[in-house]
Amino acid sequence: MVAIIGRPNVGKSSLFNRILSRRHAIVSEVAGTTRDRLIAQASWKGRPFLLVDTGGLEDDPDGHIPQRVQQQADMAMGAADVIVFLTDVIEGVTATDEAVAQRLRRTDKPILLAVNKVDNDNRELAAAEFFGLGLNDTAFISAYHNYGVYDLLERIVELLPRRELADAWDGGPLSLSIVGRTNVGKSMLTNAIIGEERSIVSPVAGTTRDALDTAVSYRDHEITLVDTAGIRRPGQVQRGIEKYSVLRAVNAVHRSDITLLITDATELATAQDAHIAGLSWDTNRGLIVVVNKWDLVNRNRFRMERVLHRVRERLHFMRYVPVCFTSALTGEGIEEMLDTALSLWQERQKRVPYRDLQYLLADAVSTHTPPSQRGNIRNRLRIRRVRQVAVNPPTFVFSVNDPKLLHFSYQRYLENQIRDRFGFDRTHLRLIFRPER
Ligand code: GDP
Repeated sequence: MVAIIGRPNVGKSSLFNRILSRRHAIVSEVAGTTRDRLIAQASWKGRPFLLVDTGGLEDDPDGHIPQRVQQQADMAMGAADVIVFLTDVIEGVTATDEAVAQRLRRTDKPILLAVNKVDNDNRELAAAEFFGLGLNDTAFISAYHNYGVYDLLERIVELLPRRELADAWDGGPLSLSIVGRTNVGKSMLTNAIIGEERSIVSPVAGTTRDALDTAVSYRDHEITLVDTAGIRRPGQVQRGIEKYSVLRAVNAVHRSDITLLITDATELATAQDAHIAGLSWDTNRGLIVVVNKWDLVNRNRFRMERVLHRVRERLHFMRYVPVCFTSALTGEGIEEMLDTALSLWQERQKRVPYRDLQYLLADAVSTHTPPSQRGNIRNRLRIRRVRQVAVNPPTFVFSVNDPKLLHFSYQRYLENQIRDRFGFDRTHLRLIFRPER
């Protein structure tokens, strides 16, 4: 994970967008989403990484600027692998920059100081003052004019730790992460699941890859609860520093097959939730939205429908995401939530026989022929066959004459056909269109 931190207006989102828009830099296949992005999967020279613009991720947007930037630094030092500290040559070295630099010097995580808006010789001279911050690795860039960004990327991937990320499913047990904003009830829920007294799951002798995780067994299925150490202690309120940071949540999502995104029934899905949901979507993870503190609202069928509608509206690009209602206080809904996770997990592992897929394809194409472009039948998409090449998530490869002829609405049509015919109701599906050889 690469985190960009820095004061407002130094150009964090310009740099973020610049890195993502470079040719080959993006690997995620997002379509039909309009949200402002703060977290995205990118890669450079074949090295994938998660890029995070921490600027918009704080829980408390009203805090003082110096405090907010310090908080970003703390979040990044806790969770990121490489920290890009972005500053602005026009403003020069500010007191906040100095305070942040001082904090950053305490970590052994690699820090890249990037001085932005260096787009002429005078500014390059002026930028020398940033050497005084005492951070060794310094780059002069202009995100807007795209100067120095290539070199910065080179440096970033050099600094990335050599580590095998659990990107492809290794056939291991279901790994489940519990994430969400502060105070939505993550600790209480986690304790209700694995707490020593009256726990819903049974313990499994320590077999997790990571010391922070907990291995449990539920209805004879082994489940790894990711990063539970970070959330099991309730009431650890630390002002200034979030007790469970967003960046940590990003890591947890990335390390898990399915994410339980916890929200508060009295304060439904926020922008931050949408970012976490988007990350899970982009990285092909499973997602379940949990509306906790359900005991606090005046419940009836009508109310539930409204909440469902609100949640779906806010996470509009993922209509199939299951929504569960829980109360960590009374225990209500928690087993149903875990059952939902298991059934989503099973759906993510479903394999469709080759023959059934060809029948589906023939039916789909004869019901709705792919439209030809500009009325020219030579410019018509032709699909020869479709194969399922992976599970978790189920991944289908369509061999076509020319992927450029595929229209987004036709892709959606094919996806819906697969969903309807084979009962994929809740999982993300990956559809890949490749030219036939
Ligand atoms: P976290 O920051 O997400 O880990 O949230 P906590 O688990 O620390 O809970 C925050 C506050 O919400 C605490 O005061 C809990 O007692 C309360 N809380 C958590 N879950 C529920 C719930 O389902 N119902 C009610 N009424 N209160 C809850």
